[in-house]
Amino acid sequence: MPLKYDLDKIRFATDAATFEKAVDLCEKGKVTRFERGPYGCSAIVLGTHPYKVYVENQHYDQGGCECYVAQKNMLCKHMVAVAIYAVKGGKKLSPEEKMAAGGPKCSGKLGELDNEELSLVKQTVTSSMKYIKAYEGPSKVWFAYQDSLQEGCNRLAKVVSDLPVSRQTASIVVDMLLRLDKKLCQGRVDDSEGIVGAFIEDAVGVLEEYVKLDPSCAQAFAALRDWETCFDWEKRLVGLIESKDA
Ligand SMILES: [Zn+2]
Repeated sequence: MPLKYDLDKIRFATDAATFEKAVDLCEKGKVTRFERGPYGCSAIVLGTHPYKVYVENQHYDQGGCECYVAQKNMLCKHMVAVAIYAVKGGKKLSPEEKMAAGGPKCSGKLGELDNEELSLVKQTVTSSMKYIKAYEGPSKVWFAYQDSLQEGCNRLAKVVSDLPVSRQTASIVVDMLLRLDKKLCQGRVDDSEGIVGAFIEDAVGVLEEYVKLDPSCAQAFAALRDWETCFDWEKRLVGLIESKDA
């Protein structure tokens, strides 16, 4: 069975600290005796002890490890290291591949997307939005559900961070935030941990930076004027249009 995950899946679905430690284990050659089987990959990962690790080909977070983290049924850095090793075939990671997921950032580069880039961004936004879905229970899937919200936000954050700065891309971010807002207000998304809310706050901060770099970006916020969002995040941006009008 071929691997059903790739490096982006591992990056966006693993918390940043675990991902970074796993990358470090790979880089330092701690993944040894790697073997690829029909259903999963096994290896001995050298940590505090040598740990026998198994990771399923279908789900990188399913399998097992002898360390105490995995014994508590949590995803450990050893399993993530084996998964990374598997997708890279043991090859070194590029500096970009080593980057853990994080919040949205302003790229700081002025520019617009061409049609091809624009349609790719739209597709990625739509596919990332699928992770931010309605909560339907049961309560035993609560943690997996929150992980899914986090993965969606991580994927969207990467889209935002890669965008050049212009009125065009400001509109893309505004549209993304309105879609998320709709999900929170009407889509039965249960964001009690504040994962999506924090993403929206951070992305609003990115848009504020856009306006500092290119004041015409504020025109993209006009779409927010008649909108009442679920926690009034739009006010910071609408305020920026008015200060430009003055
Ligand atoms: Zn482990």
